[in-house]
Amino acid sequence: MERMELGGIHHVTAVTGDPPGNVAFYTDTLGLRLVKKTVNQDQTSVYHLFYADGTGSPGTDMTFFDWGFAGAHRPGAGMVSTTAFRVAGREALEWWKARFEERGVPHRGIQARDGRAVLPFADPEGQSLELVDDTASGGEGAAPGVPWEESPVDAGRGIRGLEGVTLSVRSLDPTSAVLTEALGFRSSGEHEEEGHRAVTFEVGPGGPGAEVRLVERPDLPLGRRVGTGGVHHVAFRAPDEEEHAAWRERLAGMGFGVTPVIDRFYFRSIYFREPGGVLFEIATDGPGFAVDEDPEHLGESLSLPSFLEPQREEIEANLTPITPPEGSAR
Ligand code: ZN
Repeated sequence: MERMELGGIHHVTAVTGDPPGNVAFYTDTLGLRLVKKTVNQDQTSVYHLFYADGTGSPGTDMTFFDWGFAGAHRPGAGMVSTTAFRVAGREALEWWKARFEERGVPHRGIQARDGRAVLPFADPEGQSLELVDDTASGGEGAAPGVPWEESPVDAGRGIRGLEGVTLSVRSLDPTSAVLTEALGFRSSGEHEEEGHRAVTFEVGPGGPGAEVRLVERPDLPLGRRVGTGGVHHVAFRAPDEEEHAAWRERLAGMGFGVTPVIDRFYFRSIYFREPGGVLFEIATDGPGFAVDEDPEHLGESLSLPSFLEPQREEIEANLTPITPPEGSAR
């Protein structure tokens, strides 16, 4: 393959211990669409919930494993420490701040980073999140998502996708080297994050949707056990299966312990752990969430990949049904 380029962030997968509360927060408070309700393919007794924009576009998607047994997450190095969503404009951030105040969502004041306004907040399990104004400063970024027509949040203020992730690492160099030398990221800025050195990297289109920030945290223990309120992995976008396969070959050739290509049904995946400790995935943009459901009715019933369909009755019997939150759009 002549020239491969990742298209930005594909999705972030995190951990919840409270699926009904998780659905209520991400759909009713944040206004995202539950585009897929399925089970963890490797552990079919637990939900895997996917939230995204109106059509389930790659780059807009935050997903959760239902891992209550894992206990509460303890922040550490070698982990995704914050996930940022993008919204359009400073006025939108002010509106969100008022919404968080009204709903008792823990948050801080709006602050500046790399020339953009940022509103840090947390979900009910302490998941560290941000809203970032993606209209400021230079790069347009990856194409934003399509607003969900039934979202309780107006399209103009709604979340348009993932803006970026922050990784906490003991030392910047090993992870920087993987980002730049293996994955084609470019360094695009330096800042301080609460007194710690931080570097921003971007890939593909750059800017919102395509950024990874590294924060140097030698003070944190290496924390590989992800619990509720933590992030399990971050995935980057490969445009098609051909390029995806080439990424696997390239990473294996560079000596990374990369998995075989796994069919996740909605996309193809490979995984490897970068030397700083963070689990990276590369996923294909397609085929997407409409592969097994009518786009009008994504996420309304339990979806199972075809190889699990014969066990549907048993799988459903083991799951606690999730009822949509009261007053939600559906
Ligand atoms: Zn994933």
